[in-house]
Amino acid sequence: MTINQSVDLPDVADVLVIGAGASGSVAVKALAESGFSVVCLEQGDWTPPSAFAGDKPEWELVKQKQWHPNPNVRANAADYPVDTSESDVNPLMYSGVGGSTILYAAHWCRFLPSDFRVRTLDGIADDWPFDYAELQPFYERMDREVGVSGLGDNPAYPPGAAYPLPPLPIGKIGRKAAEGMDRLGWHWWPGANSIPSREYRHRPSCLRYGTCLTGCPAGAKASTDLTHWPDALKAGARLVTGARVSEVTVDAQGRASGAVYIDRNGTERRQKAGVVIVAANGVGTPRLLQMSTSALFPDGLANSSGLVGRNLMMHPYGAVVGTYEDPLDSWLGPAGQSIESMQFYETDTSRGFVRGAKWNVMPSGGPLGMRSGYGGRPVDESWGANFHRNVKANLGRSFEWGIIAEDLPDEANRVVLDPELTDSDGLPAPKLIYTSSENTSRLIDFHVDRAREAHEAAGAITTSETRLMRDCGWHLLGTARMGNDPARSVIDQWGRAHDVPNLYVIDGSTFVTSSGVNPTATIMALALRSVEHLIANRRDQTVSSAPVTL
Ligand SMILES: Cc1cc2nc3c(=O)[nH]c(=O)nc-3n(C[C@H](O)[C@H](O)[C@H](O)COP(=O)(O)OP(=O)(O)OC[C@H]3O[C@@H](n4cnc5c(N)ncnc54)[C@H](O)[C@@H]3O)c2cc1C
Ligand code: SF4
Repeated sequence: MTINQSVDLPDVADVLVIGAGASGSVAVKALAESGFSVVCLEQGDWTPPSAFAGDKPEWELVKQKQWHPNPNVRANAADYPVDTSESDVNPLMYSGVGGSTILYAAHWCRFLPSDFRVRTLDGIADDWPFDYAELQPFYERMDREVGVSGLGDNPAYPPGAAYPLPPLPIGKIGRKAAEGMDRLGWHWWPGANSIPSREYRHRPSCLRYGTCLTGCPAGAKASTDLTHWPDALKAGARLVTGARVSEVTVDAQGRASGAVYIDRNGTERRQKAGVVIVAANGVGTPRLLQMSTSALFPDGLANSSGLVGRNLMMHPYGAVVGTYEDPLDSWLGPAGQSIESMQFYETDTSRGFVRGAKWNVMPSGGPLGMRSGYGGRPVDESWGANFHRNVKANLGRSFEWGIIAEDLPDEANRVVLDPELTDSDGLPAPKLIYTSSENTSRLIDFHVDRAREAHEAAGAITTSETRLMRDCGWHLLGTARMGNDPARSVIDQWGRAHDVPNLYVIDGSTFVTSSGVNPTATIMALALRSVEHLIANRRDQTVSSAPVTL
């Protein structure tokens, strides 16, 4: 892939998109294919499949550092540090073309209909401004854009179109887990994954390396550098990599007029635009809006509600690993979900908490994973002769039931600008203030206990549990939430900022509630819905007073 380090940037773009990750990619492609002049500024770079470590002998070592999903551990030049001294959970992400989809596990899950109506159903948080039926067509189109493998007619969901590709094999781990679920009479279904089970739009089928969480060396997994950017560039989109945005600028009328960014040589540059779309994820977006202060917006851009950065949700994660006598080939990939269960997804107040979680079966990986994985084993069991014994007992014979706990919005959980820490360009780093709730503790305790029973019913000889993993902030949500009431939300249902008519936010920060499923299918479907609304209503779009061609 060649880098379009465009020298031919327009003086004023119709639309400027900040962030080339999951949501930004969807927006840039749709806008460019509709004839808009689009510039995208991305702080990271391209990462070609050959750069990934998954097909190299050192893979399990480098995933502890150079390919760690925590930017504080990885510390790439493109990353910004995050102060986590007051957070129960570390945020995980990737900076580059494709954003965090470069490292994601590609579990491809839709919200359930109840997720849009938790205030109505359970009396908590807020309802979304629309329902499942409204988003369903966008989910189905996104399934085709990324190439999802799955089995339709999952009884947990309303009926809909078939997935474009047949499901990935559930493998020995899926069959073993299903035995336990069948004995208990609990729901399970082959997992849907954005990993092709057959060749799909120039991407090969999955080769089962199992290294999806450090990037796919086969170029099979649907990261958006592969699924969206080639078409976006072909349609004329301009992408500037190594471009860290320090501020969204405004004109005298308080409309967004473009952005200031620092290029890879440390030079400050400006890009003007008629419309600005922020797609920098649930931490990067509130950070940028908070950095964008001006006389008109002294508390940060689009922040009259005071909610920019608030209601951070990260999906606390619990897990139960079971070890079996039978060989289960559980070093094999993908790291996508083999099977999933929605048995305990909905609220049952007799359990002592509200909402629930999706479960997913995942392989347990290679020898080092046996030591540092989720088992929570004491140190003396993880070294020397004991380590060898553990590897022999577990390698290829264990798998994990993972639990994605619904995280409820709480204004006290937030992203703020750190008063001291800065990134490599001297810009303020974000700080996370996040406490996992009492509801979450009860939810995870219940689900971990049930997942242990599921392993035991399947014949596990031992199980080990993790009740809240610190390195589980894969899903960064809620920090610029959508809603109809400008006093209680940052953007409207189309992603448009209540305070700034030509500023949009389309990434995971827009979520009203978190659901109990992995969010990227919803992030990308929402981004498509928002940007198509912008395209359809372009004649009525307010723009900056700068001359534009929109
Ligand atoms: C290890 C891991 C596993 C995951 N597994 C799954 C999974 O199985 N299923 C699932 O649904 N989700 C998964 N996720 C989450 C998924 O990757 C994210 O939900 C999704 O990528 C978020 O999309 P986004 O557009 O909000 O942000 P991102 O994809 O994170 O993109 C944001 C982009 O903005 C750029 N940016 C930020 N600030 C600036 C700035 N100031 N200037 C310029 N550029 C900037 C960043 O560099 C980045 O490229 C996983 C994530 C990780 C890290
Ligand atoms: S298991 Fe499949 S999707 Fe994952 S890294 Fe290997 S080839 Fe890619």
